[in-house]
Amino acid sequence: MNQHRPFSNMLPRIVELVARAAAGLKYDVREYVASESIAAILTSLIDELTKTIVEEDEGVIRCGLCGRGPFTRKGLYLHLKRVHARQIEELVLSELEHRVWVMKNKLNS
Ligand SMILES: [Zn+2]
Repeated sequence: MNQHRPFSNMLPRIVELVARAAAGLKYDVREYVASESIAAILTSLIDELTKTIVEEDEGVIRCGLCGRGPFTRKGLYLHLKRVHARQIEELVLSELEHRVWVMKNKLNS
């Protein structure tokens, strides 16, 4: 891919964060990004994506992307990283690009 995409160098770290958040494991955005404004964007992005990526019903955890499960928290984390890393990258990118676009348009209006 020769098209420049913002954040693409951060993607592996962001996928790690999303997988941790979705599985309900501990994570700290500030360990991964230095910029406070990007950390804030990431935090809200992760909250949003988590809703799509995990289905939790009365303590039973399933993958929201393929419906497999039930998983333990650790099991879901590993499943997301093994099976859905690319898919999560795409979700993160399109959501980030959307948010950056919205911000730019707010600034210009
Ligand atoms: Zn899955």
